[in-house]
Amino acid sequence: MESFDIKSMTLEEVKAIIVAMGEKPFRAKQLYEWMHVKLARDYDEMTNLPKSLRERLNENYPYTSLKEVMVQQSKIDGTQKFLFALADGNCVESVWMQYHHGNSVCISSQVGCRMGCRFCASTLDGLERNLTPSEMLDQIYAIARSTGERVSNVVVMGTGEPLDNYDNLLRFLQMISDESGLHISQRNITVSTCGIVENMRRLADEKLQITLALSLHGSTQEKRQELMPIANKYSVSEVIDACRYYFMQTGRRITFEYSLVSGVNDTEADAENLCKLVDGLNCHVNLIPVNPIKERDYSASERKDVLRFQNKLEKKHINATVRREMGRDINGACGQLRRRFGDLN
Ligand code: SAH
Repeated sequence: MESFDIKSMTLEEVKAIIVAMGEKPFRAKQLYEWMHVKLARDYDEMTNLPKSLRERLNENYPYTSLKEVMVQQSKIDGTQKFLFALADGNCVESVWMQYHHGNSVCISSQVGCRMGCRFCASTLDGLERNLTPSEMLDQIYAIARSTGERVSNVVVMGTGEPLDNYDNLLRFLQMISDESGLHISQRNITVSTCGIVENMRRLADEKLQITLALSLHGSTQEKRQELMPIANKYSVSEVIDACRYYFMQTGRRITFEYSLVSGVNDTEADAENLCKLVDGLNCHVNLIPVNPIKERDYSASERKDVLRFQNKLEKKHINATVRREMGRDINGACGQLRRRFGDLN
């Protein structure tokens, strides 16, 4: 088994450690609560644990937490973008968004990404490494501490492909929704994937209540291949079948992400093909005018084309919303902030 840092361990695993250290089991519950409810930054804060225990923990289980490198706040909508340094100096970015239905944190699941989507900044330098469960949790904890607000929604939509880091993602999902931690309802958690079919099916079999979002971006095999290299590995029909399977196993409505790129995937024919593709599937389509990155010459669809596309879907009774572009003035698109800033090593 992979060995985890203490903040990536479940309550049961923490108990086993505490007992092996010759301590009473109730100490495990206290320790777990400090890490995952009170969001302690280090062992020193854990004042109801004996000092000798804190010292021994510190020696044997170095406590991880993130260093805030930079925060940017949007003047338009209050969105905040955080750049955090991990223990090894790599940086990840996370976003805080306030909606009428609650506060949302968007986290990264990897340092970099190897999926190669053509319009995405996160993938330009490839994959550096996977994030551990605690590094995913810590993004939420650090933002909760910094804003002083309750986090009600989590979206795994930052840098990285979560289903390319499956085991750590699953552990993270279980811990963030567990009642002994922050206890965020699974129904308020969304995992977004570019479509790694076997892991979509594995996730379906876990029967969690989280929302699966599929980054579709093209309504035919050819269009998808143009924008997303992963489409060379899995055909669009295999991916849609996996979405149907996810719905069958979990009863959860699928979200499709569709970034509109001017002249590439935003025509009436594209909208018609999309309707055919998702026919009969309980789903919601998020339309996002692509956020242009300087390394590529894609531009966002014009407002009138976005609305025409949305109309077309709605006529066929497919729920479609145009996503509000949050934080455009602060490098809102995935991976843009980290690229601008670089890593700290
Ligand atoms: N790897 C996962 C999650 C990270 S990307 C995935 O592919 O779903 C989160 C979403 O943002 C995806 O739908 C992705 O395609 C989209 N995205 C990335 N760069 C974008 C950009 N420049 N403009 C609009 N959407 C973008």
